[in-house]
Amino acid sequence: TQMPNNLEAFFMPFTANRQFKKAPRMMVGAEDMHYVAADGRKVLDGTAGLWCVNAGHARPKIVKAVQDQVAKLDYAPNFQMGHPLPFELASRLAAMMPEDLDHVFFANSGSEAVDTALKMAIAYHRARGEGHRTRLIGRERGYHGVGFGGISVGGISGNRKQFGAMLPGVDHLPHTHDRSKQAFTRGEPEWGAHLADDLEKLCALHDPSTIAAVIVEPVAGSTGVLIPPKGYLKRLREICSKHGILLIFDEVITGFGRLGKGFATDYFGVVPDLITCAKGITNGTIPMGAVILRKGIYDAFMNGPENMIELFHGYTYSGHPVACAAALATLDTYAEEGLFERSAELHGYWEDAAHSLKDHPHVVDIRNLGLVAAVELDPLAGKPTARAYDAFVKCFERGLLIRYTADIIALSPPLICGKGHIDEIFGTLGDVLKEAA
Ligand code: PMP
Repeated sequence: TQMPNNLEAFFMPFTANRQFKKAPRMMVGAEDMHYVAADGRKVLDGTAGLWCVNAGHARPKIVKAVQDQVAKLDYAPNFQMGHPLPFELASRLAAMMPEDLDHVFFANSGSEAVDTALKMAIAYHRARGEGHRTRLIGRERGYHGVGFGGISVGGISGNRKQFGAMLPGVDHLPHTHDRSKQAFTRGEPEWGAHLADDLEKLCALHDPSTIAAVIVEPVAGSTGVLIPPKGYLKRLREICSKHGILLIFDEVITGFGRLGKGFATDYFGVVPDLITCAKGITNGTIPMGAVILRKGIYDAFMNGPENMIELFHGYTYSGHPVACAAALATLDTYAEEGLFERSAELHGYWEDAAHSLKDHPHVVDIRNLGLVAAVELDPLAGKPTARAYDAFVKCFERGLLIRYTADIIALSPPLICGKGHIDEIFGTLGDVLKEAA
């Protein structure tokens, strides 16, 4: 592959990519558990791309489905006409869902799915004569994409502060992570469920009949793998139900097997009213996001009495044929290979391997659930991210891709990984951390 000389002049996605400018890590190929870097080296994918390539890279069945579909029906709008694939995909997704979450709206990304879900929640209440229910509640350290809705409910103030007005009437629950009380917890922490009661405090403060929805990531991924305390999500559900508030689970990361079940709703046994998903829905091949929800909410949004004249919502590429074909082949692959169950068998091994780094220099916390783990390092004075960045660069040089946010290293391999891959991930990271001492 020919590299342009001045990369910056052409294309520089992601503001966080200043490090990429310093040392471009170009990937030119990928297969199963590995990337192929521009210099021909194989790099073990410890992060499933960006938490999305759950079945491993370039799986032949998915590749073929994409190729066949683009040749057969490249595009058809789902506006005043349609095609069969989104219906088939919606029924497959609904079959994976608990209770009556059996309606699906397709978007093209997690961000779009989130903004759609927030609008749906408000529209639902309005259709029921509760037009004053417009307040939204997110969580500190929640990440819900980069749309105005997503950054408003998202708990990362840095993503908001330059953009002026946000959605009005948004509050954030406290995040549930306190290292002094739960460092090195294996799985779900015992401490912290009571923080859900802050929702009751917000209800007392605002009048609960003004609150439309609460949105949370069941496991906050992007901001450092924050595992919900035992009972926390259940408590949120109870408070929402009590006050008629809709609960949205943002499962963009936790969906499609990351916790060894289809979705986090199965893992935790807590059923929200709407689920947003993306990433693993197409195994990272073709962009797609979705909201999966109860019929009553869907109808209020899409088929309300005022209908299209008053309300239009949809994307040109909602239910895109090629994305649908990719998603159907991806769901087949997950099912045929039993990937969720198979990966669940590795959870104990994964947990032990992650926590084997406990006594390594600078490691101040390790967290894990399903096939996700975070290794948190103490920040270098005045240079947050320096240690984690250094580990990231050194791991890459040794053929391992990890991910880091601030001082937190996150790991989430494709679900096809084996024990050998897990050994390699934590072995390489461990070596790098020891050397950094
Ligand atoms: N929600 C969550 C929980 C996410 O992790 C992400 C992406 N990391 C998003 C929303 C946004 O998805 P996208 O980048 O596809 O817009």
